[in-house]
Amino acid sequence: MSNRYARRKFLCDPTVGRLCRYMRMIGFDTGMASSHSAKDVLSVALDESRTILTRNTILAGMKLARDVVLLEEDDPWRQLQIVINECGLEIDQSQVLTRCLEDNEPLREIAKAEVKGRVWPYVYQTQERFYTCPKCERIYWPATHVKAMVSRLKSHGLL
Ligand SMILES: [Zn+2]
Repeated sequence: MSNRYARRKFLCDPTVGRLCRYMRMIGFDTGMASSHSAKDVLSVALDESRTILTRNTILAGMKLARDVVLLEEDDPWRQLQIVINECGLEIDQSQVLTRCLEDNEPLREIAKAEVKGRVWPYVYQTQERFYTCPKCERIYWPATHVKAMVSRLKSHGLL
């Protein structure tokens, strides 16, 4: 993992739920605050040294909220672009889809035999490498998923 990736951790609040998935998609450790309360979000961010991503001006204006990106845009792709620019991030293609989009857990490779019956037969027949989330047990097959994600990133000018 590149240093740039290892250094930065983020926390989204419920005002930027889709952005949260996109941050995970490009491989950044991005937590999702379960609470709407600015105070609660701030306290998690401070505890875990995370940069806050939010549209909540009250949260962004709090005295202790020094590490925060306030997003005025509504479109999550534009939001992603702004976060990348403001935080000086670079997308590393090898980090795309290394985390579960649902719960931020790093994915683990799983033996092909273990996914038999858990994915569509076509997928089983055509894919060789599979990854799983240790928390929710979703199965990902990067050969297809990463390609689709990379082309979405490119279509938004992010790669
Ligand atoms: Zn998961």
